[in-house]
Amino acid sequence: MARSLLHTFSDSKYFEDRRGKGYAHPITERINPHSRPIVSYYFPKGVGEHHYGERHPMKPHRLSLTNALVIGYGLDKQIHQFYDPRPATKDELEAYHDSDYIDFLSRVAPGSHNEMKHLIDSFNCVEDCPIFADMYNFCRMYAGASLAGARKLCSGSTDIAINWSGGLHHAKRGEASGFCYVNDIVLAILELLRFHPRVLYIDIDIHHGDGVELAFWNSNRVMTVSFHKYTGDFFPGTGRLDDNGGGLGKHFALNVPLLDGIDNESYLAIFKSVIGDTVNAFRPSSIVLQCGADSLGCDRLGAFNLSIAAHGECVNFVRKFGAPLLVLGGGGYTVHNVSRCWTYETSVLVGAEVPNELPQTMYDAWFADDYTLHPAIVGKVENQNSPQSLQRITTSIRSKLRYLQGAPSVQMQEIPPDLAGWLADEERNPEERAEDRGASAAGEFRGEPSKARNEFFESETDIDKEDGGQAGDAAAARGATPGRRARGRGRGRGRGRPRTVAAAPAAASLPTPEADGDTPSSTPAPRGRGRGRGRGRGRGRGRGRGAAAAAAAAAAPLAAASASTAPASAVPSEVDVSVAESPATMPPTEPQTPALSTSPEPVD
Ligand SMILES: [Zn+2]
Repeated sequence: MARSLLHTFSDSKYFEDRRGKGYAHPITERINPHSRPIVSYYFPKGVGEHHYGERHPMKPHRLSLTNALVIGYGLDKQIHQFYDPRPATKDELEAYHDSDYIDFLSRVAPGSHNEMKHLIDSFNCVEDCPIFADMYNFCRMYAGASLAGARKLCSGSTDIAINWSGGLHHAKRGEASGFCYVNDIVLAILELLRFHPRVLYIDIDIHHGDGVELAFWNSNRVMTVSFHKYTGDFFPGTGRLDDNGGGLGKHFALNVPLLDGIDNESYLAIFKSVIGDTVNAFRPSSIVLQCGADSLGCDRLGAFNLSIAAHGECVNFVRKFGAPLLVLGGGGYTVHNVSRCWTYETSVLVGAEVPNELPQTMYDAWFADDYTLHPAIVGKVENQNSPQSLQRITTSIRSKLRYLQGAPSVQMQEIPPDLAGWLADEERNPEERAEDRGASAAGEFRGEPSKARNEFFESETDIDKEDGGQAGDAAAARGATPGRRARGRGRGRGRGRPRTVAAAPAAASLPTPEADGDTPSSTPAPRGRGRGRGRGRGRGRGRGRGAAAAAAAAAAPLAAASASTAPASAVPSEVDVSVAESPATMPPTEPQTPALSTSPEPVD
């Protein structure tokens, strides 16, 4: 949509309109209906029925609440396509993840602790990441939804794809981390890279988007920007201002480290400044937005002071760039506020106005505190970010962006064979063919909202109705408990030792179907564990460059080979640092020398 007609947090109307009929109304008075974006919404049926454990703060049930509110407001009528996507396949998960790790996830079950103890430990499925019933299917569901959304965007048949069940940004190539087992974001970005030369990843979860940053650390085709709390020991302990990527990807990672209590005005100011500058410099062809709702005020694990309206204004700001947009969920542990937030953001994305009074749903008891979409949740934590410190960050990032010197461009000359096969499959699906006039997302089924309404609901007395009062062991561990990761892991991981040579040969080669971004496993990358979670250092903070190297191998060659086609830079090029102009001028790829000088080793 060309014009900004959506109400934002600064619009007092949301805070006065208490007697609405609870139904969404499209904002169409002044705009051509055709200018409204096409929005596809992905809700894997049953995804909200999974349980990490009674005392675990991650509650997939928040997805059921979100869906109920979305439907209750009638937003499903405004959404163009409402999908129950198929789960991701093992092969699809292995586009990024190690085969042995996925194999483990597919086999492990709550009862297998004795015989699989060694594997459970080595894949980090302990503490934050417990083994729970049907866990693998849960992962396949949320990953399948993100992949379906990415494919839909690639096909050009939607402008915005929403998957609130995705956004699990901590998962690593070969291990679980921070409630995340499979990194659906990395998988979706790899999918987008088939068609999109440059993907911008934005993360507004209160935790650093470490898994995604790591995966694309060496890539100049994916720019990652994370806004998060950083104190050094707040999980996951990474994401310093000066951690900016390595190898070909140097300068293509940005981090905005913030302190407790940041308020709406400060957050929006720095968000809009950084994202505006980044979009101008990088000029993404598509954007992935992780909307972790633990950055809201009153989050069970978070410590920021954002209102739902301000969080939604970040979404609105990104939407207005008009780039193909994949919107994902993420963290968020005060369940009733998470579902409010993502419902509001759905309305923002579809361009509908919803009244502040919540619609009646079967989950009314969850909102008994205040039946409004925008409850008062800010001001509970003192803002420790000074205007000066925020200004320093903004200025620093602006200077970093000057290094981009024109983002890489990729000229796609042929469709990789595997994708051609996928398109052929699509053409055999009559419903999709009729609906989308060509390529579309794979294996999706139209959801039936009436059924989605009746999701299993366990109990209104579920523990997470408490806002922090009963944060369990996992919650406590999640917050900031140095030492919880001090156990030996026994997998020979050093401090972020790179996986080696994956990027080097690939970066020097011309784009071929084999070297295309979807086949990282086909590159002769050593399969060593290049992760480095800082064993025995009290926190899982080592920065494995290994996975990054492999992902960069996937993403770099096209960029390296076609950088000569890069358009003129939109930013001043005072600094003569070239980004992959030719293999000969490329910086030494990290692998050969452990290159940790360019790696953001965390300081203790
Ligand atoms: Zn988080």
